[in-house]
Amino acid sequence: MPPDAVAARVTPPKLNPVRVPVPEEPVAERVTDFREVLHAYSRESAVLEAKRCIQCRRPWCVEACPISQDCKEYIRLIAADDFDGAARVTLRDDPLATTLCKVCYHYCEESCVITKKGVPIAIRQLKRAALDFGGSERTYIASQPKSQRVAVVGAGPAGLMAAWDLGVRGYSVSVFEQEPEEGGLIRTIPAYRMTDADLREDLGRFRDLDVTFVDNRKVGRDTTVADLLREGYAAVFLGLGTPDHRGLGVPGEELAGVLPALDFLRQATHGRAPPIGRAVVVVGGGDVAMDSVRTALRLSPGGTITLVYRRGREEMPADPEEIHGAEAEGIRFVFQRAPVRIVGDGRVEGLVVQAMELGPPDAGGRRAPHPVPGSETTIPCDTVLVAVGQQADVRGFPPEIGLRISPKGWPEGTGPGYATNVPGVFAAGGRSVVYAMGAAMEAVVAIDAYLAHLRGAAPTARPDPFGGPVAFHLPPGYTKPIRS
Ligand SMILES: Cc1cc2nc3c(=O)[nH]c(=O)nc-3n(C[C@H](O)[C@H](O)[C@H](O)COP(=O)(O)OP(=O)(O)OC[C@H]3O[C@@H](n4cnc5c(N)ncnc54)[C@H](O)[C@@H]3O)c2cc1C
Ligand code: SF4
Ligand code: SF4
Repeated sequence: MPPDAVAARVTPPKLNPVRVPVPEEPVAERVTDFREVLHAYSRESAVLEAKRCIQCRRPWCVEACPISQDCKEYIRLIAADDFDGAARVTLRDDPLATTLCKVCYHYCEESCVITKKGVPIAIRQLKRAALDFGGSERTYIASQPKSQRVAVVGAGPAGLMAAWDLGVRGYSVSVFEQEPEEGGLIRTIPAYRMTDADLREDLGRFRDLDVTFVDNRKVGRDTTVADLLREGYAAVFLGLGTPDHRGLGVPGEELAGVLPALDFLRQATHGRAPPIGRAVVVVGGGDVAMDSVRTALRLSPGGTITLVYRRGREEMPADPEEIHGAEAEGIRFVFQRAPVRIVGDGRVEGLVVQAMELGPPDAGGRRAPHPVPGSETTIPCDTVLVAVGQQADVRGFPPEIGLRISPKGWPEGTGPGYATNVPGVFAAGGRSVVYAMGAAMEAVVAIDAYLAHLRGAAPTARPDPFGGPVAFHLPPGYTKPIRS
């Protein structure tokens, strides 16, 4: 072997630790309306950023992605200026790519090896570049029709992923959604992060599959799982998610001006935000709280927007990118304070909070808050937005189905592939868009095996959704997704 070739084999590629900056709307301008905060890369910037990837033999990025998106491959194609190819690879495994390229919490980036020396590859931002310059308007094609019908309940990310994966495999799918529109909690994400048009673009790609959306139909009320099985659906996937608000459980929550953050965001993203005051307090430390403070700021220019959280900044479950964005926009953070009651005469006038002391880290590494006696203070305000969690509504789903409520609130089956106690009925969800999709993808493998068994056939891998000869494959070096 020539000496140069030997050197190429033993010398690792030169690692560039500095990310090509992602353009951002300046703070002073962006807080005046709902324009997008993060901008797209130019074609040249995307190629430069993609060239930083060292194409690891074992792609940690792919392993960390709950839907096993072959990001290593789309980055390689972008580095070679093949944006068409990159868009195809992206959309091959990800039917909600236009949504995810804006709001995915990019678990891939946390695992990228470049993190050891610098800033990880901007994998999510490169997904956006693939679609921007390679085209996102491709439609999906079903493989050989299977003559079995599947009912999907819930058109959130889990239900949409299940419908897509089953549709591509040739099943006839009906999606029952209680709301007038598809998207689930995606529809509460503010327009400064992603728009309705982004979701519509994703849904538009389903049009050639045998997937029918039946909106305004609540399973458990208008029909039941047993009815669906009786009507001839050979399997049912429940992607019920957490559409309902969880309250604070303190006196005064019924006062005018106290609003569930979920309803507030839902209305705001549809341009029908309820009137809010000049002194807004948001209670919570997660992503819903972050979206609420930043939305309230945009709806109450010059107002004081305060976030109250019972632990410290380090313990906040919100995405660091969102916390950073809120801080930059001037949100006031009050840490280690928990609400005790809301006061006012018919209308909210103040939130009474109590100081919290943080104990040692628990088994999960989080420090538990303990109330400090005699430490109550009042934060004057005219609006309180409650963002302390969401929950499922499983009324109308009998206990025999065997739905377990996950610690974060969504119902799921406990058997392999999220199977429930009822043969042919599966249920899954997730703590983020891509986790919900990953769980649904796992359920579909089990649903396909169940249905194949019913028709006396062997289960098969998901075919190429663009009708090409190549079936979905896991990238070389891949082990299995990390599902925490
Ligand atoms: C404000 C906010 C911001 C967020 N931001 C992000 C983000 O930036 N990135 C990210 O990855 N994740 C984000 N998330 C989390 C993400 O939206 C959820 O993890 C994800 O939507 C869960 O998907 P799902 O399909 O399991 O459930 P859901 O999205 O809750 O969807 C469930 C669907 O089922 C329907 N449904 C429920 N019960 C029935 C029934 N009985 N009959 C018919 N239909 C029914 C519901 O109406 C809903 O449409 C955010 C969540 C919120 C609230
Ligand atoms: S879907 Fe999310 S986690 Fe997966 S590769 Fe894309 S940005 Fe990363
Ligand atoms: S882990 Fe990072 S450097 Fe390695 S292939 Fe993935 S994106 Fe590229």
